[in-house]
Amino acid sequence: MSKAPTKEMKKRLYVWIFCIGFGILTILDLVNITKYALVNNEEFQAMANDSQFGSTTVEANRGSIYDANGQIFAQSATVYSIIVDPYKLSQLDNIVTNPETGKTEYQRQLDTAAEILTDELDITAEDVKNAFAKTEYQWSLVRKDVEKPVADRILKRANASDLAYNLIYTDTDTKRYYPQGSLAAAVIGFTNFEGDGAYGVEAYYNDYLKGVNGKIISATDGKGQEMPYKNDKIYDAQDGSDVYLTIDRTLQHYAEKHLEQAVNDNNAQNRGCAIIMNVNTGAILAMASTPGFDLNDRNSIYAQKDIDLLAGITDEEEYNAQYAALREQQWKNKAITELYFPGSVFKVVTGAAALEEGAVTLNSTFHCSQVIQVADTPIHCWARYSHGSQDFTTAMTNSCNPAFIQIGQALGSNAFSKYFEAFGLTEPTGIDLPGEADSIYVHAENMGPVELASCSFGQSNKITPIQMITAYAAAINGGNLVTPHVVSKIVDPNGNVVMTADTSVKRQVISEETSAKMRQVLEDVVNNKGGSNAYIKGYAIGGKSGTSEKIDKYNETGIENLYVSSYCGFAPADDPEIIMLVMIDEPSALDQNGSLMYYGSVVACPVVSNTFKEALPYLGYYPEYTDEELEALGVTVPNVVTYTVSSAEATLEKLGLECEIIGDGTSVTAQIPEQKSTMRHGGKVILYTEKEFEYDVVTVPNIKGMTLSEVNTTLTNAGLNFKTGDGAASHAGSVAYTQNYAEGAVVQRGTIVEVTFIIKDEG
Ligand SMILES: [Zn+2]
Repeated sequence: MSKAPTKEMKKRLYVWIFCIGFGILTILDLVNITKYALVNNEEFQAMANDSQFGSTTVEANRGSIYDANGQIFAQSATVYSIIVDPYKLSQLDNIVTNPETGKTEYQRQLDTAAEILTDELDITAEDVKNAFAKTEYQWSLVRKDVEKPVADRILKRANASDLAYNLIYTDTDTKRYYPQGSLAAAVIGFTNFEGDGAYGVEAYYNDYLKGVNGKIISATDGKGQEMPYKNDKIYDAQDGSDVYLTIDRTLQHYAEKHLEQAVNDNNAQNRGCAIIMNVNTGAILAMASTPGFDLNDRNSIYAQKDIDLLAGITDEEEYNAQYAALREQQWKNKAITELYFPGSVFKVVTGAAALEEGAVTLNSTFHCSQVIQVADTPIHCWARYSHGSQDFTTAMTNSCNPAFIQIGQALGSNAFSKYFEAFGLTEPTGIDLPGEADSIYVHAENMGPVELASCSFGQSNKITPIQMITAYAAAINGGNLVTPHVVSKIVDPNGNVVMTADTSVKRQVISEETSAKMRQVLEDVVNNKGGSNAYIKGYAIGGKSGTSEKIDKYNETGIENLYVSSYCGFAPADDPEIIMLVMIDEPSALDQNGSLMYYGSVVACPVVSNTFKEALPYLGYYPEYTDEELEALGVTVPNVVTYTVSSAEATLEKLGLECEIIGDGTSVTAQIPEQKSTMRHGGKVILYTEKEFEYDVVTVPNIKGMTLSEVNTTLTNAGLNFKTGDGAASHAGSVAYTQNYAEGAVVQRGTIVEVTFIIKDEG
């Protein structure tokens, strides 16, 4: 690291009020002489301009913020203020007259200054004239935040002209830039007007980033009068250190892209958040709140519903209050500052605790008859049917509430509370970001049978998403509770590492043996019954969905159907490296039948699977397909163009594909789908045999909500082929969720439509 020698002089507006009298010229001459004498020393020149008396702060340069791969997320740069000296110009009045033009020297210099400044800055000659109007000042600001090349050109032109010395001069200031814009904005945070961190990493690590300001102290004489410049003492500024995040820009981008999609698709009324963490170290690889904001334009409001809300307010005072509240809300890091009922994702904690205590085993059976009586209270399963008799893994797959109430009962309220604390849910995780919220939970002494029941399936205790993912990580990483963190190290301007993240294990919560069981159970949850929505061909994924009702908000407002939909998945399932939690707050979109889509498996799970699909290859994990998956991947269509019709037919037949011949030619002139496309076994290739022909076209039907066999029939009847994307195609209860060609699109007959399937239930 080079140590920049810049000594930022705190800019001060010095108002010179002189008595009209004999001494005035003498003082000004002294000032000017000083300036001339120190012309080559920028630092002293600035001081001569700014502060003849007392001590002057020399600002330290603020350190930069980098991601895990050295990409810049925040940096400071010097910007320039363009300043003119009206007093100096005023002294020129009528001193010299240009005989050729008849202008006074005053007018000639004003014109020259105006020519330079209007050329280089977006201002008028009138603006320049106004800047020179207050003739008692030596400092009049023309423009601030000017970039260096422009400031340099202005000074160069001023020096090349015969303007009075320093009639135009510059002062420096510092501006904070966020080159990644909105990416990870709630984590990075920003600085306030004073240049101190106000939010996020900028605030939490402010002491490291800001450095130590220096000082120039002027000596004083026997009467306490300062003696400028003669005996100054200079304390150099110590520049701030650079902060390196654990955040990986690429993973952050993947997470934000898919989170934003889900927040929009589900019309989330209270934002959404996502966290990707290394399960073994607690390093946060991505953390997002959506809608977010651009760090370079953080005062704007970004969520459309907030913009609409503000547009409807006419009272100015009310508008300003609402604007401030909404802006504050959009700046908040949802993953750490807000509490929620984790719902069924919490069953991972209950299950791990019960297995560890020996209260249940993987072979224990639990019965669901749709409703279970707890003390005097009937508690329903989320399903509108009974799950019947289930072992532990099936109960987790079904996400059966009565089963987990029985698991909670087997554990008991004391043991439940002991593990709740051990998993770190009674205290903040200690993540290195400001504003982490404290959980609200039922204490053991207040936990009756009904409370224990609802606690067991995650509907009574309110925790933060960062607490949930950290507890879940402990359940599957060998039992170790780690400290989540966003900064890996801090490096001072001399290149010394002055802080490294503590990645040590806080405590072991469950045994490696129990943790291994949980990994297997959660992998089975994803793979069971033909694959869940988290299933990705070629990868071993573990995961659990959650859907919680915002009972407290309902009690407060009477608004029904407010849910938090979440999903927490990890990979690779047998030896996990990453874990991702996604939470969508108050989804409000309806499906094709007009029903609210709110299950975590439907709303939040696609964010995890779509992100993993990109993140795992990026992290060096490549898919390994089973025979079944290879079968499902389909057939790669070969090229049969120029083949004779009979050899084309034979080639396709051997691959399990049908064909349809169009025209009377003897050889193939075109084929749809084209070579190298993949499609389902049994699909049909359209072969054209004439030299002159027009492609048949068909209209894509809507297949959303259909089962696999309905999709097959509908698309085949429409003259189309299809293939299935990742997700739950062969699951008994799955339905088509997305199609890559929209309903009504006109495409060539034989085109392959890619369809993804989703299971529309909590499991
Ligand atoms: Zn059930």
